[in-house]
Amino acid sequence: MATATSTIPAAARPQVNVSQTKILIDGKWCNSVSGRTFETINPTNGEVIARVAEGEKVDIDLAVKSSRHAFDKGPWRKMNARERGKILNRLADLMEKNIKELAALETLDNGKPISDSLAADLPLAIDCYRYYAGWADKIEGKTIPINGPYFCYTRLEPVGVVAQIIPWNFPLLMQAWKLGPALAAGCTVILKPAEQTPLSALRVGELLLEAGLPPGVVNIVPGFGETAGAALSEHMDVDKVAFTGSTEVGKIVMKAAANSNLKRVTLELGGKSPNIVFADADLDAAVEGAFFALFFNQGQCCCAGSRLMVESHVHDEFVERLLTRVKKQKVGDPFDPTTTQGPQVSQEQFDRVMGYIESGKECGAKMAHGGNRFGKLGYFIEPTVFTGVEDHMQIAQEENFGPVLSVMSFKNVDDAIERGNKSFYGLAAAVWTRDISKAHRIAAELRAGTVWINCYDVFDAAAPFGGFKMSGIGRELGEYALHNYTEVKTVTVAM
Ligand code: ADP
Repeated sequence: MATATSTIPAAARPQVNVSQTKILIDGKWCNSVSGRTFETINPTNGEVIARVAEGEKVDIDLAVKSSRHAFDKGPWRKMNARERGKILNRLADLMEKNIKELAALETLDNGKPISDSLAADLPLAIDCYRYYAGWADKIEGKTIPINGPYFCYTRLEPVGVVAQIIPWNFPLLMQAWKLGPALAAGCTVILKPAEQTPLSALRVGELLLEAGLPPGVVNIVPGFGETAGAALSEHMDVDKVAFTGSTEVGKIVMKAAANSNLKRVTLELGGKSPNIVFADADLDAAVEGAFFALFFNQGQCCCAGSRLMVESHVHDEFVERLLTRVKKQKVGDPFDPTTTQGPQVSQEQFDRVMGYIESGKECGAKMAHGGNRFGKLGYFIEPTVFTGVEDHMQIAQEENFGPVLSVMSFKNVDDAIERGNKSFYGLAAAVWTRDISKAHRIAAELRAGTVWINCYDVFDAAAPFGGFKMSGIGRELGEYALHNYTEVKTVTVAM
C-alpha cells in the first residue's frame, strides 16, 4: 500500500483554483451579514483550504426573500418550459467544459480519489442535469372523466420555494439530484451545501449564472446545520424542504417542518444495506461486488453494502478471496490517479469510524483485516473487515459510514430474507445468485428502496432511489423525483 503522504511530486499535482467562497443571493456573490467565515479543511492533511462565508438565519432570510420574489414575480415559473430545459443543458455543457477543475475541487475538499471524481461524480452529475433538462417540457397533467356536464383536468404546478440541504459524501452529485428536478419543475431554490464540502457547490453557482439562470432562482448559502440548515427547515416562507443526511437530523428537519408551516418534506437518510451472496453465485463477480459495495467512496455511501451476508457453506472460501481483494486497495494521496481509497472527510468522521472499529473489537467480532489509522497525516483509515459478526452487534445495526465491512453467514433463503430485513433501515440491498427465481423472490421480499441483482451501486438518473422505513420519505431521480417538486391542481369547468 502507498503511504498517506503524496506519492506524486508537488509539481505534477493539478493546481486547484478555489474561485468562489461567498454566498450567492439574487445573482450576486456576497459576504455573510455577520461577516463571519468558517474553514473548509483538506482531509488529506488537515490543512485549511479556504475560509467560506458563514450563512446564518439572517442570510437565510435574505435568500428566502430572493427565492420567493423569483418564484412569485420572476420569469422562471412562467417561461416556456423548454427554455428551462435549455438552461439546464447549458449548465451541463459548462460542467463538461470545466470537468477537470470541478473534479479536482471535489477531490480537494472531500478527499475522494481523483479517478472516482472523474469517472463517477462528474459524469453522473452532468447526466442528471441533462436528464432533467429533458423533463422540463414533459411535466403533464391529465384530463379526467368525472360525472356531470364538466370538463376536469389537472395541472402539475411547481411546489414553490424549496430548501435543499445536502451532505458531504457526493457534493456535486447530491446538488444535481436536488437541483435537476426542482428546476425542471419550475421551483426556486435555496441550497445549503454541507459545511465540510462547500466549494464545488459554489463553483456550480457560478456556472449556473453563466448558463443564464435568472437571479434568485438558485441561491446558495454555505453554513452549519444547526444554524443555516435549521433556519431553512423552520422557515415560514419555504414551501418544501428536501434533505439528505443522517436519520437523526432527518427527524429534526421533519419536526421543524411540522412545527412551522407544514412544508412538504422529502428525506434521503441512512442505511445498513444487506448484500446477500449465495453459494450458487458467480463468486468472482460477487467478491468484486462485495468489495465495491462497501469500500467505494471510503465507505461513505448511504447505500453501502455494510452487512455482507454469505451462505454458510461458501463463507470461509468467500472471505479468503475477499481479503485478497481488500489487500489490493491502494490507500493514499487522492490526487494520485492510481489511488483507490482517500481519507475520510473530516476528523469527526474519522473519530466516529474508529469508534465503530473499537466497538467491533469489544463485542467479539473477529478482526480479519485492517482496523488502524493509516499514515500519520490526514484522516486515513485502513480498509477493515470484521468476520463472525452477529445481528445484535452495534457494527451490524448502525451505519458506520467508513471503510469497515461486517461479514456474517446465513443458512438458507428464508434466513437471508428474515435477517436481511432485520434493520430499522431500508435503503438498498443486493443479492448474488445464478438462480433467477430465487433472485426475484428475494428482490420482492426485501424491504428496501433499491435491490440490485448480481451488481451493486448501479445508479442512473432515470432510476428512482430512496428508502423504506427509517431510510427516508420520497424518491429521488427518475420521473418520481418530479412528484416531490410539483403540486397537483384540479380544475373543473362547467360545460
Ligand atoms: P453527517 O452526520 O453525515 O454529517 P448530517 O445529517 O449531520 O450528516 O448533515 C447533512 C446535512 O444536514 C448538512 O448539510 C448539515 O449541515 C445539515 N444539518 C445538520 N444539522 C442540521 C439541522 N439541525 N437542521 C438542518 N440541517 C442540518
